[in-house]
Amino acid sequence: MNKYHYRILYFFGKLPFMPGYKLENSTKHPGKIFRYINFILAISVAGCSAAGDKILESSSKNSSLKWITDISASTHAENGVAKLQFIGAGGVYLSFPQGGVLVDPFYSNPGILSLASLRTLTPDTQTIDRYLPPLNDINAVLIGHVHFDHALDLPYIAGKLVENARIYGSATLKNSLATAIAPDRLIDVEPSMSVDGRGGQWLMLFPHLRVFPIKSEHAPHIGSWVVGSGNIEKPLDHVPRDVLDWRAGVNISYLIDLLDDEKEPLYRIFIQTSASSSPNGLAPNSVLDDGKAVDMAVLCAANYSKMEHYPEYLLERMNPQKVVLVHWEKFWTPYEPGQASPLPGLSLDNLYQRINAVLPQAEVSILQRSAIMRWSLDPGR
Ligand SMILES: [Zn+2]
Repeated sequence: MNKYHYRILYFFGKLPFMPGYKLENSTKHPGKIFRYINFILAISVAGCSAAGDKILESSSKNSSLKWITDISASTHAENGVAKLQFIGAGGVYLSFPQGGVLVDPFYSNPGILSLASLRTLTPDTQTIDRYLPPLNDINAVLIGHVHFDHALDLPYIAGKLVENARIYGSATLKNSLATAIAPDRLIDVEPSMSVDGRGGQWLMLFPHLRVFPIKSEHAPHIGSWVVGSGNIEKPLDHVPRDVLDWRAGVNISYLIDLLDDEKEPLYRIFIQTSASSSPNGLAPNSVLDDGKAVDMAVLCAANYSKMEHYPEYLLERMNPQKVVLVHWEKFWTPYEPGQASPLPGLSLDNLYQRINAVLPQAEVSILQRSAIMRWSLDPGR
């Protein structure tokens, strides 16, 4: 830490106790000030690492780790082609010729000051309008958990979805956004979710796409503490306000199947937007051994090293041909396509080496913000 970091820490630490400053709802949440101080420490420590840009450089020299930086491609559906756009944080736009899915879309990226001073967070509608692709092909939105960097933009984006598109997530998602999104558009998947390799069921999103929700986990931010952990059990009368009000709820991973006209799976994607430990996030054997391999795994890079044997335990069991890493960039810096550097302290090289040790044949990709990868759905190519 240098003098600058101490000054920031001092400023953030003093802010809630300045005359006239109101720490919203602090009396309703007795542990809030304690959690707040921890949160300040966490982000101050995170801000002390300047290793991010160097890691980006060294990773791009590794020929097997594919950096995708093409931000000029279109998300529009093309025959025989699948597309994945990395939005930012855990956000993904997934497009098939038969329809598409949005996962954890997030553009607003409130700055460190807004987060640390527990300001009410609001979607940056200008940035969303500027960079969110048209949603005509999007038939469903999947939400992994309800932290602000996964759900803050959802109410605004929901207003841009086609009328019959539904949003799938936890009971906490439904309760947190009870006043912002009509209840019939928000589907609580917890009754359909598999837990510890048992139960669960496929949900049809639309005729050619189905999803299997799986209970997963969220890596801690500091020590064993997850910022904003816990569920929202009853519908709130307001949208969550500051960073601590956005409660994660149950963390959910999804298997997404693209289906042919006979309802047989053509392409299977696993997506998980938080790091976890075994057996969280793994679908039951009845699904993983149903004859359709997992083709692609989209995995969270943030805090991967805090979870034992992650992501190896997921990859060893699913053996995907392609791996895409998300949640790797500083999601508190202004959103600019093609402009992002890795999270402080995150070694993408090390993560790549670990994936490569399990899956030497797999193609491992990291996309810049708004970059798009495309691949053929023709099994012969
Ligand atoms: Zn989170």
